Amino acid sequence: MTAVPARAFVLGGGVAGLTAAFGLADRGYKVTLLESRGWLGGRAFSSLDRDSGRRLDNGPHVMLGCYRATRALLRRLGTEEHFQQDRALALAYRCVGGRVVRLQLSGLPVPLAMPLALLRLAVPFGARVRAFAGMVCSLLPVAAHWTLAEWLRRRRQDGEPAAFLWRPLCRAIMNVEPEQAAARDFLATLREAFSGRAGSAAFWTPKRPWGALFGDPAPAALAAAGVELRLSARVATFELEAGRVRGLGLLSGERLAVADGDLVVSALPWFALRGLLPSAVGVGALQSSPIMNVFVRTRAEAPLLPDEGTVVALVEGDPFHFVMRTAGADPREFALVSGGNRSFDGQSVDEIRKRALQQIERHYPGLSMRDAEVRIRKEQHATFVASCGSAVQRPRPGRLPAGPDNLLVCGDWTATGLPSTLEGAARSAEALLRGL
Ligand SMILES: Cc1cc2nc3c(=O)[nH]c(=O)nc-3n(C[C@H](O)[C@H](O)[C@H](O)COP(=O)(O)OP(=O)(O)OC[C@H]3O[C@@H](n4cnc5c(N)ncnc54)[C@H](O)[C@@H]3O)c2cc1C
Repeated sequence: MTAVPARAFVLGGGVAGLTAAFGLADRGYKVTLLESRGWLGGRAFSSLDRDSGRRLDNGPHVMLGCYRATRALLRRLGTEEHFQQDRALALAYRCVGGRVVRLQLSGLPVPLAMPLALLRLAVPFGARVRAFAGMVCSLLPVAAHWTLAEWLRRRRQDGEPAAFLWRPLCRAIMNVEPEQAAARDFLATLREAFSGRAGSAAFWTPKRPWGALFGDPAPAALAAAGVELRLSARVATFELEAGRVRGLGLLSGERLAVADGDLVVSALPWFALRGLLPSAVGVGALQSSPIMNVFVRTRAEAPLLPDEGTVVALVEGDPFHFVMRTAGADPREFALVSGGNRSFDGQSVDEIRKRALQQIERHYPGLSMRDAEVRIRKEQHATFVASCGSAVQRPRPGRLPAGPDNLLVCGDWTATGLPSTLEGAARSAEALLRGL
């Protein structure tokens, strides 16, 4: 008689859920993936803008070469080659008034290339030396209760080092300002990206919308792995009995029985799991941070925004922090991105549009954006805030300390040592699988 394979219900089809579903199927589980939306990919997805016919991301995402777990998922989906893979970190900074400064690392390992690149940065000499000293100090241990702003103050990184180096890096990695970010989480990520090969710190920018990289290819890849996929299947309740999940109630009214030996793997975001397990200690009380994206397409006859790379940091950029482009896309198209900025709350589309176009004119003097086509995408729960107090709200991937026995959790918000990123999500599922 052949043994009936154990069953695993994976909740949520983002990067963590997809990684978990493939890994469980590879380990012989009979997997059912339940996703509340009609598509996969979680927080990295695209949707059709009906007016223009363009497929727009919910927000541009960038990877780094050190995102090894995300790359493993992309390989499984057959989409790893759809990225512009830079050989080394190169970033343009654009100041108000139009001055452009570049940080360009050579192909040497980052610990050797970074000091040379910092010493060549076109800012006053004293600021270059302080930035270099700050980079060296980033290798030293840091107190758990220091915000990044506190660390910057203690390491004398105010002025140009903060404006050019640290603030843009903090916004890109942590999606909040240094005043809110835990120095320890930020520096841990920095060390991982900046302590190895040149390619580890280099940008990987997609040549296609994110929907084409995760959501579109995933159903066929899951089917090939033997995973049963149920889209538009929102889990609304956990039926708990004797310390185990005994059933999953779907919003449609359907009930899925969870037998002895079955696993329930939550790859839900923090706020969604909290709704299902309100009494579980340390689950989901994290604060969310928004991302505002303004996609711009200039008129055919309008002058083009200069091409300074796929990611341009706007120094003292307020309210937008980055200009981003899809590699190889129409040069008239770009996006303005603002992370963790609450000043948009309650603003109308017209007000946001006006702020975006005015800021372009401040950073790119002489370029009129009048009549540009503008589309706005806002994600209210884009990331969680990795603040000094958030560590206690991030359980290790796997079984919750006081949760149901057969419930395992993963997702970017679990304790991965990384902030809220694609890589944190993928690694959380890998850690869960290692613990099986
Ligand atoms: C606009 C934006 C820009 C970003 N930029 C970057 C970037 O440049 N680089 C980077 O590394 N990261 C970036 N991030 C963060 C990154 O997208 C996330 O960290 C990552 O995608 C989280 O993956 P996850 O699988 O943990 O969670 P999610 O992607 O949130 O997946 C959870 C899934 O669960 C589903 N779900 C929710 N409730 C239920 C329910 N009750 N039943 C069933 N299913 C449910 C959701 O629909 C979702 O598909 C960005 C995020 C946003 C929004």
